[in-house]
Amino acid sequence: MSNSIILVVNAGSSSLKFSVFRVNGAENLPLVIRGQMDGIGTRPYLKVRDANETMLVESDLTTSEAATVGDAITLVGAWLRERLQHESLFAVGHRVVHGGTQFSHPVLVDREVLMALEQLIPLAPLHQPHNLAAIRAIGERQPQIPQVACFDTAFHRTHPQIADLYALPWKYYESGVRHYGFHGLSYEYIALILPKMAPEIANGRVIVAHLGSGASLCALRAGKSIDSTMGFSPLDGVPMGTRPGALDPGVLLYLVNQCGLSGGELETLLYKESGLLGLSGISNDMRILLESQESRAQLAVEYFVHYTVKQIGALAAVLGGVDGIVFTAGIGEHSPVIRARILQACAWLGVSVDTAANERSDSCISSTDSKVSAWVIPTNEELMIARHTLALINSRKGGHVE
Ligand code: ADP
Repeated sequence: MSNSIILVVNAGSSSLKFSVFRVNGAENLPLVIRGQMDGIGTRPYLKVRDANETMLVESDLTTSEAATVGDAITLVGAWLRERLQHESLFAVGHRVVHGGTQFSHPVLVDREVLMALEQLIPLAPLHQPHNLAAIRAIGERQPQIPQVACFDTAFHRTHPQIADLYALPWKYYESGVRHYGFHGLSYEYIALILPKMAPEIANGRVIVAHLGSGASLCALRAGKSIDSTMGFSPLDGVPMGTRPGALDPGVLLYLVNQCGLSGGELETLLYKESGLLGLSGISNDMRILLESQESRAQLAVEYFVHYTVKQIGALAAVLGGVDGIVFTAGIGEHSPVIRARILQACAWLGVSVDTAANERSDSCISSTDSKVSAWVIPTNEELMIARHTLALINSRKGGHVE
């Protein structure tokens, strides 16, 4: 098993994120390289860093060099083979946004699985096709390498049925209109390391706030997801960089019936033009809004905090109380100001912030007398995918890693 590596791929509409982990053992998967190609099909740009964050590549490419995800895979694959010539590729793990109701665990991809995943494209038309294009591209180029699909929805399949339903006629539930939840690989990673990082709450009632450019919250009971704020799509719940979060469906009817928006226009509005960007008119980036003196920037931040607090209250009610609150992802890990504002508004739950610890972004940021503890735990979805990939392939081979 020495010199084996796992490649983790997260393919989007115009970007390809990738990470390489060395397989030293089931629990020991050190990061070797991570990179990202943006602007696929328009202005491709490749950045690759090693595990110490040293930049290895930073270059513009011509549009024809990376016109599609397949081209990007060929290019990145050639670069990785050259750079890691003494390592052998063990398997590829993919982030796949939707596993529907069928896939509640990672799965080894074969022709049948790929067909089943294609059936789910209507449930996630903006993400699923690109995730699958990467699987197909690697399958065509290196058919002997096993590929594993890891799903953003899978971790939430432990929701009780009541948290899976919408109050629509039953036939829609049966046809797949359900509350799936997303960011599952992030929550699974947090649940996995909670016993080490915060053993006193790992078996209790925990709210995890994944606050990045996409944002959601998850209610964990004893490490299992019992509810989450994203639903049928990644639009629901808290406001995000460019998505609105929960919206009265009546607004959508009004936009279509009275304002004449088409389905495509509505999609663009909801995925790309709303949230912090729409409210502020300035940026989708929380850092820029926090620095801005513009009143609408400040209002957007206030809105973000208010609705995150509101969702914490809702999940606290579902859990019947809270033992701990965990912050993760870009804003959650790096913004003491936002964490402080959210936690101060949650004082009624019994949480009290340790201001100095919060400023330092320590792991534990609540004061010693706080009834509810608060934590900052960096997420690592790529590592979660690498671990799943290794475990699945080893279980299929009946083998084990020394
Ligand atoms: P993604 O959902 O794309 O993976 P991340 O989890 O990396 O996103 O989060 C990215 C977002 O985190 C950025 O858009 C930015 O708003 C926010 N962010 C990063 N660092 C900070 C910071 N120091 N203060 C406030 N916000 C931050």
